[in-house]
Amino acid sequence: MPISVADELRRRMARPQRHRLLHGYPLAAALPSADHLDEHRELTFDPNRGRELIVGVLPHPYCNPAVTGCGFCTFPHEPGNAAKTTAVVKRVVQEIEAKAFRQKHLGVLTNAPVTAIYFGGGTANLCEPDPFADLCQTLDLMAVGAAEVTLEGVPAYFLRGTPRLTDVLQKNLSARHYRISMGIQTFDEARLKQMGRSAFGTPATFLEVVRHAHELGFTASADLLFNLPGQTRGEMLADVDRAIDLGLDHLGLYHLVLFPGLGTPWSRDDDLLAELPDNPRAADNWLAVREHLLARGWVQTSLTNFEPAAAHATDRRYVYEECSFRPDRYEAIGFGPSATSYVSAKDFRAAVKTLNPTSADGYAKAVDAGGRVWDKAFVYTPHDQRLFWLVRRLAALAIDTREYLALFGTQLVHDFGEAFRACHAAGLLGEADHVIRPTPLGMFYSDSIAAVLARTVVRDADGARPVPKELVHDARQFDASHSPMG
Ligand code: SF4
Repeated sequence: MPISVADELRRRMARPQRHRLLHGYPLAAALPSADHLDEHRELTFDPNRGRELIVGVLPHPYCNPAVTGCGFCTFPHEPGNAAKTTAVVKRVVQEIEAKAFRQKHLGVLTNAPVTAIYFGGGTANLCEPDPFADLCQTLDLMAVGAAEVTLEGVPAYFLRGTPRLTDVLQKNLSARHYRISMGIQTFDEARLKQMGRSAFGTPATFLEVVRHAHELGFTASADLLFNLPGQTRGEMLADVDRAIDLGLDHLGLYHLVLFPGLGTPWSRDDDLLAELPDNPRAADNWLAVREHLLARGWVQTSLTNFEPAAAHATDRRYVYEECSFRPDRYEAIGFGPSATSYVSAKDFRAAVKTLNPTSADGYAKAVDAGGRVWDKAFVYTPHDQRLFWLVRRLAALAIDTREYLALFGTQLVHDFGEAFRACHAAGLLGEADHVIRPTPLGMFYSDSIAAVLARTVVRDADGARPVPKELVHDARQFDASHSPMG
């Protein structure tokens, strides 16, 4: 007999709470092969559908911590160094040129206003300056003048090299606003060593990076972990205080996801696993660090994002992720290994999400072959679109039921009522003025909320749905012998 939604929610809440919501629906790992789609089909990014663009660039898949995957990292990455990045960055330039060339001849993309660009994945700031300059110049093929641009990476690499990548970025990509985002994870140097991140910088490095960013007129962001093995509540709060004291403009706060079978090096270490808090304690720690940030004048902008009130009130506040939580207003184009793209029909009832090959080799082969690069694709039905929109809005902390009705023509309570009632009864969701929001406890258990919402969706899993014509074009209509820049 199938178990009730309430029982399913309880079961999910007893399991590790992952950060799958941040990746949207479906997860990259669940995307089917694109073999069922005509190999000549390419996505069309058409501003006439009334949406703006965000651009994700993964220049290469490499990073080089001394402990594989920093012990805990589940992002696609490969061990590598700056020299290895160059060959991949060149391919990313080729991918952008080819896409921009085709879209330009369709009369689209190069006209679509880009709201935000994010250089991420692996350690984006491991690039060499010259290929990175080429990459920035190539992105200028698009309408990027009003864009926010973020360069992500490990702290120490923002300070090395001549010229520094921050200077290269500012000089070669003419955007509205620039940001850096660094992975701090913790200020505890013994823990940084345990992660294999000693070469990525000390607390003194973190401060220098913030100062360097501010001198250039950039804003500075950092990621911090809590619920590390054996970490006390006091240590978590001390880390938050030290992050605030750096003068950051933005903080991404993540509880550590670690459990047996996860596949990371730390997940095979019984001693570390034994030191983890159970879910109720981990949730209490979340409530405490969140309250602490709010008490110090920070504003929570999404499940994991916080900004000081002063920075939040300006047009220099972080927008890329917020846009990604608005698929009804923004489409996404991704370049590089593991990059995803998303386009949706004008009426938002259908969409396609694609994924590029994740390994450096697989990606290079796909680019060199000269056709479309993505090898996985998911075609959304109206049901899938509902779920995708809901989990994105959950990550943004506000699900407006009137917006849902306007977008899909049905009542949220009718489509997902049982799941919402179960989450409400468990104290995870609340509603006021037609807007459903996760409670602070629900934020910790948002992975479970998403799981029970997903259970409600009627899926047709054959992967062979027709793709709306407005979302794809035939790439063969462009003469491959043309210069991509022509
Ligand atoms: S440096 Fe960042 S991307 Fe690379 S393994 Fe560590 S956490 Fe993951």
